[in-house]
This record gives sequence, C-alpha cells and structure tokens, in this order.
Amino acid sequence: MINKALDILKNIYGYDEFRKGQRYILEGILNKRDTLGIMSTGGGKSICYQIPALLEKGITIVISPLISLMKDQVDTLKILGIKGGFLNSTVDRNEYINIVRGLKSGNIKILYVAPERLNNEKFIELIRDIKISIVAVDEAHCISQWGHDFRKSYLEIPKFIEKINQRPLILALTATATTKVREDIIEKLKMIRPYVYVDDFDRENITFKVERGVNPEAFISKYIERNKNKSGIIYVSTRKEADSLYSYLKSVKKINVGKYHGGMNDEDRKITQEEFLKDNIKVMVATNAFGMGIDKSNVRYVIHRNIPKDLESYYQEAGRGGRDGAPSEAILLFNEEDLGTQEFLIENNEETNDLLKKEKREKLKIMEDYAYTEGCYREYILKYFGNRIIKNYCGNCGNCKNLKEVENLTEPGQKVFSCVGRAKEKIGISTLVNILIGKKDSKIERKEYDKLSTFGIISQDKREWLEEFINYLILEKYLIQDAGSYPILKLTEKAMEVLKNIKGVYRRKNEKIIFDFYEDETF
Ligand code: ADP
Ligand code: ZN
Repeated sequence: MINKALDILKNIYGYDEFRKGQRYILEGILNKRDTLGIMSTGGGKSICYQIPALLEKGITIVISPLISLMKDQVDTLKILGIKGGFLNSTVDRNEYINIVRGLKSGNIKILYVAPERLNNEKFIELIRDIKISIVAVDEAHCISQWGHDFRKSYLEIPKFIEKINQRPLILALTATATTKVREDIIEKLKMIRPYVYVDDFDRENITFKVERGVNPEAFISKYIERNKNKSGIIYVSTRKEADSLYSYLKSVKKINVGKYHGGMNDEDRKITQEEFLKDNIKVMVATNAFGMGIDKSNVRYVIHRNIPKDLESYYQEAGRGGRDGAPSEAILLFNEEDLGTQEFLIENNEETNDLLKKEKREKLKIMEDYAYTEGCYREYILKYFGNRIIKNYCGNCGNCKNLKEVENLTEPGQKVFSCVGRAKEKIGISTLVNILIGKKDSKIERKEYDKLSTFGIISQDKREWLEEFINYLILEKYLIQDAGSYPILKLTEKAMEVLKNIKGVYRRKNEKIIFDFYEDETF
C-alpha cells in the first residue's frame, strides 16, 4: 500500500520521497487506524489526506475552517488531475447540484466541507447513500476549548460522524497541539486507538535566552547596535508600547527600524513589511499582529520586550528567526511588572468564561516559569509540546551555555531543608549546622535532635562551607529567618519545590557572599 502511495507521490505530485511525518501518518491511515498527526506548518499535511483519498474506495471528506482556502485547494487538485469539490456558504444552487452529481457518480474523490455545513439535513441525506472512507479534520485543535482557536462549529464533527452509515476512518491534523489539546482532540472526535504522530518540534539553530531584570530599552538598543547588519524582530505586547519603543529607537537612537501593529492602516503595514522583507529595514518593532504568513528566512534574532501570554505564542514568534537553518537568537526580556499587563488582558477579556480564564492563567504561569527555569530552556519548551526528551542538556541555550560556571547544589540543599523541616522549623543557623555535621551540644541532646535522620549527614570538615551555604540559601530566599532574639529558620515555597524535586539549587562557582564590604579592605 505504501508503495502505491509512493507511486502517487512521484507520478502526481512529482516528489521523490515522503517526509518522515507523512510516512508515519500514511502508515497509520492505510493500515485502517484512526490517526492523529501533529506537524508544523508547511510540513506537508495536505498530502496526508489527499493520497489516502486516492487509494481508498470511497470518498474523503476534508473538514477545514478556512473557507477562503478551499477553492485554491480544489483548483490545485484539478491541476494535478484529482477530482475534488467543496461545500461552504459561497456555493450556489447550481454548483451544489454539480457536487451532488459528482459524489454520486464517483467523479469527486475529495470533498472539502466547512464544519457549519456538516449537519445540514440535505447534506446528511445526500451522504447516506455514499461510501465515505475517511473524514479528515484539518486544524483539529479547533475542537478543543484548551486550544488557542476553539471553534464551536467543530463540535458538529462528532455528531456528523455518528450519522454516517459505516464508520469512516478519522484523520486529525494540526500544527499546534500541547499534550492537553492532543488528548482533547482524541476524546472529542471519539477516535479509536489512534495512531499518533508528533513532529519533532526542535529548532536546533535557535539559541534560547532569558534576560531577567535588565532595562529593556538599553538592552535592545545596545543589542541592535552590536548586531548592525543582522535582521531582527522586537516583539512588544501592546500597540502603545510598539509606538514608544519605535520612536525611542528611531528618534533618540537613530536606528533604522520599522513598526508594525494592528492599529496602523493596511497601506503603511504593507509598505513596512515589504521594506523589511527586502532588507531595507533591518529591524522590526511589532506586536503579535506581525508574522502571520511572513516568510523571511534570514531573521537572526527575535527579542521579546515583554513576556507573551503563553509558551505557544512565544515559540511561534521566536521561531520566526533562523528559518534558513543558520543560527538565530531568541531572547526573552523578563520584568515582573509585565506579568501585570498579561493578567489584566486575561481578566478584562469579555469574551472568555471562567474556565478559559483559569486556563489562560495557568498558561501564563507556565510562561513565567520558563523565565525562571534553571534547566535547559529548549527542554522546557519541547516538554510542553509533548516531545520526548532524551538528554537533559542542549548545549545551545542560555542556561546550558552557562552550565560550566554553575554548581548543582540540589543535594546538599535538600539535606539542609529536610533538616530544617525535621526539626519542625524551630532551630537557628548554629544548631542547624551542628545537627548536619553531627556535633552534639546541650541543646541538641535536650531536644533529641541527634535522633533525627539528618544528624551528621554532612562531613565535619565542611563546617565553614556549610555556614556560608546556609547564608546563601537565606539570601536566595529558600530559607527565611524569623526575626526575634534567637532567629529561627523557616522553609519557603522555593525550598519545598527543591524537596519535591521540582526545582534544583544552582549556584555560580566561586561566588562568595560578601557580608561586610569594609572588613576585607586590608586583606
Ligand atoms: P501544511 O498543510 O502542513 O502547512 P502543505 O501540505 O501545504 O503543508 O505543504 C507544504 C509544502 O510542502 C507544499 O509546497 C508542498 O507541495 C510541499 N511538500 C509536501 N510534501 C512534500 C514532499 N514529500 N516532498 C517535497 N515537498 C513536499
Ligand atoms: Zn539547553
């Protein structure tokens, strides 16, 4: 079967071989399995349903939300000599009759249908007599409320499938799906034991970085100046912000930048976009309105001036860099106060209900955690998109690159925190140190702290190091000192996360805390 598919690929489409994802997806569907394919845009999803449509006896119904694209798709099929048709609100009576004829005579193999049309009585009656082999659902994430583009009309699809005489195979395709959306697609479409293919989402040539607490304007202008001949995009979260950053760079810093946002008229947007594509403008300051359908291959950096609303948006926007495969940098500037803007947008969006608001808050939290993660940025993103992670290190992100100078102190950190916890948060620094290195004193004996499992788990000769380390943990807010005549130590949420293995304790090597600047002056 796959050989026949390959013949079609060569003879009709003129391509030599299938892409990896196409082969997987075709394998699933040609083996009569419901199949879910998650492939990036441009990955070649059309072929995944067009070729099975040609190989299967009955017709294939393709459900797509993009009415404007249906005609193009069908015209392309015509050029290839494939019989297709489409049904949506733009189809008039005569065309409808033609389609009915085509379906009944077998002259149409692929029918594109808008989801709104599916449960139209006339249509249901029509397809009752026709063998439908495959229902292909394009942009399948639209069926999930957890996705970024939920469409109510997509809920018509499972109802429609139930009305078909003989259950067809279901093929669901989408470019964006987190683990949660993926599970939702399978459930909502009632897919049976589906064969699932997830594209490798990694963009190896992009270096991910986060800059916390820098002055954004200063950082951005310096970055642009240091990368003078390179093309880049600076994303901001509001039109107002785009206007002000644009004027700052242009008027104050005299940098040749362009501006793009939804508040500008079509003409201006078109001109700036073209100038950017032609490299007459190297840098674009833009809101998320910029980028849809723009294919500029040599973007060398994408800087986010503000935190975006979720990791999907971030990855998509950052991914506009390095399309040519050459190195590109994706830098997120993180300032606490920008979270406020996103939270405001969530709370004040009248279209969303409470469930969606909750989901959006969760997504924002995941985005925030990205900015704080000590681990590999790439791994963090890929995990979110459900890719399997083999190694714990990419070597090409801000955190992995810095790893040489960083010490992993998670294990001693856990020992310290668990000791504080076992002593019921009733001890100060000196007692804590004595318990850990196993040195009995009268208090320890009186309170029986020597019976704790953490008694003596750190070697005696590490005393000095341990004292300094505990001070570091206080400075980094893993521990707080309860004020009083005898300050006792308490665990913070951050320490709890280390105990639960959610986060680690990392520290730059050779970093010493200087408690008193004057003491050391004479060496
Ligand atoms: P998607 O729907 O996933 O965004 P398309 O189906 O529109 O992607 O395909 C994207 C491009 O890739 C098209 O120009 C298509 O002709 C091309 N393409 C698809 N499959 C192959 C292949 N096996 N070999 C080479 N080019 C391909
Ligand atoms: Zn990494």
